[in-house]
This record gives sequence, structure tokens and C-alpha cells, in this order.
Amino acid sequence: MKTYAHLMALILLITPFNNANAHADCHYSESLIDNNIAYVVTIDKNNHRLATVSITFKPETNLLYMAPGANQLPDRWATFVQNLKATDTKGNTIPIEELSGAKWKLQSSLNEKLTLSYEVKLDHEDYKWSGGIDGAAYATDWGVFYTGRSLLILNDNDWTNITVDFIVPSDWHVTTPWDLVKDGANKFMVINQTALMESMFFAGTHEELSLKRDDFELVFALGGDEIIAQKEEFKNLAEGVLDYYIELMGSVPNPSPDNKFKKSIVIINSSTLTDGEQIGNNISMLIEKNGGPMSKMISRFMFAHEFFHLWNGKSFWPTNNDTEWFKEGFTNYYTLKSLYHVGFLDDASYLDILNSFFFQRYNADNGIGKIAMTNGAEKHNHWGLIYSGGLFVAISQDMIIRKATNNNKNVDHLLNGLFQKYGGTNDGYSLDELRESLSELSGKDQSEFFNSYINGTKRIPIDSYLSMAALDAKIENGALKIERKKSANLLEENMTKGLFGIIDNN
Ligand SMILES: [Zn+2]
Repeated sequence: MKTYAHLMALILLITPFNNANAHADCHYSESLIDNNIAYVVTIDKNNHRLATVSITFKPETNLLYMAPGANQLPDRWATFVQNLKATDTKGNTIPIEELSGAKWKLQSSLNEKLTLSYEVKLDHEDYKWSGGIDGAAYATDWGVFYTGRSLLILNDNDWTNITVDFIVPSDWHVTTPWDLVKDGANKFMVINQTALMESMFFAGTHEELSLKRDDFELVFALGGDEIIAQKEEFKNLAEGVLDYYIELMGSVPNPSPDNKFKKSIVIINSSTLTDGEQIGNNISMLIEKNGGPMSKMISRFMFAHEFFHLWNGKSFWPTNNDTEWFKEGFTNYYTLKSLYHVGFLDDASYLDILNSFFFQRYNADNGIGKIAMTNGAEKHNHWGLIYSGGLFVAISQDMIIRKATNNNKNVDHLLNGLFQKYGGTNDGYSLDELRESLSELSGKDQSEFFNSYINGTKRIPIDSYLSMAALDAKIENGALKIERKKSANLLEENMTKGLFGIIDNN
């Protein structure tokens, strides 16, 4: 389980962006064309490890930069940029001063149209990436993967009305999180700068799979024979997970008005290892060729976990990081439930993973008993405390509420309530609000629970809480052992169904 534990720890936090503010209209007028920021990305078939980029725009400031990342390299993403030049409409060269940290200063007058051009060498695999190459850029036999941050130079500005046109070999196509512009084969409209910075795309001969629910679209880009062979399986998994989350929440994701998205992409390629990264509303995954059941489990878990963040994280989010245990832990709970719902987990494997993965990580975390799970900044150093601990809080509270209400209420109501209240707004919930809502759901003041296990450092007696359902759970020799009760009453049976995520609409 070591690899699994390590990889799960890499699952990243989604930080909602609130710095973008406008919606673009796909309708062109003369003035829009005049103010349009136009990127053209050219990838040559004979040398697909080189991308040539040009941008035509009117600079409103002199600063050019690339989005954060690649912190291990002194020049950040600029390490891979070469032949950067700018020319005005008369063909005169405009000097560019290179600054540190993937920034440049343009020696031009402002608000005059110019064209910036440069090349990006796709050598990223020659360097070490703490989050994995899946968050940077790489080439495969069937195409190339880039993140917006690894490819695109930006002007320090609040751009809207951006187009990105890809000129690629004739048998290639391009998958991006943006809307296609109807008149171009691979030309896309990007609503704002955040959508550029948080993007990822794949250009090549990969296969695409699209699922639509209301105005939300989930697009998969699948590359490599082994991955394409599982296309139907990915489709069933994604549909099952998507529909489960929609039924639970009542609708497709409803993000802040400042960060509207209608499309998420999941890029999955066959590789020599299994890894995953989430950027913005998109997921990049590599799955080890012939990786076996564990690799399969990790990839499904990562997908279902990151995908739930489109609600719990993107549609409603905390006002500060003392509720990371809720955001990550409750997301883990619904990840397990969704994978049970689609049949990827059964009773035995669900209960087994509670011990073999989550309890083991929890038990091994040296923060247990020392630091409180409200220390959200510690979530990467203390995965067990915050991701597993948060899951145990979710299970414990679910059992408390179900028992107190004869299984009429449960933690679904908390998630649903937060979504109804905060979805589509710029407001967030607080730690106090979670405590109050949980107290209200069970009709029992949860201050002591919070003081002990959330604000405090006591170990959660997860075995006792699981045993409130039709389960006999005990902690023995460093393991969480869970068996079915020999005899259980109807409430206990229903509580167990609730644990597995069987929605009974009570
Ligand atoms: Zn997460």
C-alpha cells in the first residue's frame, strides 16, 4: 500500500480563484475582433517536442509573465522558452528585458498592437517535478500534453475575449477546457485569464469522450492503447459517479460568478507510473501500463475524489483553512460512496479500504494526539490526520445523525444544504457553521465532539462509531477490524446502507 499512500498524499488542494470577473460572449463584433487577444500555437508533426506560440494583443502594462509553478527551477517555466521576440504592426522589433522567475519587461508603448512570439521546448521530462510530470508538460507517441502555465505567456492584465488557435498535424485534434469557436477546426474561445492559467490540453491522435448533464460537460481525453481499450469502462464509471453526485447535490456544479465553468476535462494517458494532478477544474492522470489492480484503484479514486471537489471546493468552500478536514475528509467519504455506487467497490472492499488505506495512514500519522485537524496548512505533511481523520469525522457524524433521527437524516443533508446556500455565490462557510449544522441535524450539541476530535487532538474512536451500524468494529494490533454483526436491527441495517452511500431518499 506504500505507493498508494504516497500517491494519495499528492492529491492537491483546490483553491478557488476569485480574481477573474467577466464573461465572454462567443458572438463576434468588429470591436471585439479589434481587442481580441489571439494566441496561435503551432505544433509541427516532424518535431512535436517544439511548440511555436504567437500572441497578438495590445499590452496595457509592460510586464509579461507565466503562471506560478516549476518552483524548483530558477527560471520557472521560462526554462523551456526560447527565441522570445516582439514586433509592432510595422514589423519593428520591440526590446524585451528578461527578469527572473519567468517574467519579462516589454520596452514598448502601451495600447499599441504587437505580436509576441516564442518557442517552448518540450523537455520537461528531463527535470524532477515534485507533483509529477502530469502537472507540467510531456510528449507521448500519440501527442503532446501541456498545462496553460507551462506554455502560455501572459500580460499583467485582466484579459477577457481571448482566442487560442492550434495549428496541428492534419490527423491530430485538440482537447481543451474551452469552447470551440465554430469557424476554426481547433480554435477556442477563453473567457478570462484564469481560464488560461488553470488550463491543460492534449493535442494528438487520442480519443475523446464527452458526457453532458444540463449545461455542464465532462470531456475525457484518452491516450494509449491500454487506456483507449478501457473507454467503455471509463464512460460507465464517469457517468455513474457524475449522476451520483448530481443526485446527491441536486444539480451540476454551481461555481462562484467570478469563476464560472461549464466544462471540465480529464486527460488520461498510459505511462510508466500512476499519478494525478488537478489544476483548476481539470484533472490530468497517468496510469501505469499493466499496473494491476492497485493502479486501477488509485486512478478511479483520484478521479472520483477530484471530481467531487467541483461541488465541495468549487461550488462551496471554506472561509479559511481550519476546515480542510471537512473539504478533504468528506470528499473522501463521497468518493468511497460513489465508487460503491458504480460497483467498483463492494461491501468487502469498501470496509477493507477503511482499514488498509485510511486507518493505516491515520494510525501512522505522528500528528495524531499532538496537533488538531483544524491545522489545514498541515494537510500535506499530515495526510493521515486531515484526509483520513476528516473521513472518520464524516463517518462518525453520519452515524450519530442517522441513529438520532431513525435514519431520516444524514450528512448528505449538510453537503446539500451548503451547496444550496453557497452555490453560485462568493461567500464561504465557517468551522462554527459546520458544528452548528451538524448539531442541528442530529438534534444534539456537537461541541464536545468538536472540542475533542476537531479542535482538540484526541483520537477518533472510529470503531465505536462504525459499530453503531450493523458492524462490529474494533482496533486491534494497529488495524481497524470490521465485521458484520451476527444479528442487527433494521435501523442498524439501514445505517450500514447509508455508510455505503445507498441513497434512500428518506
Ligand atoms: Zn482533495
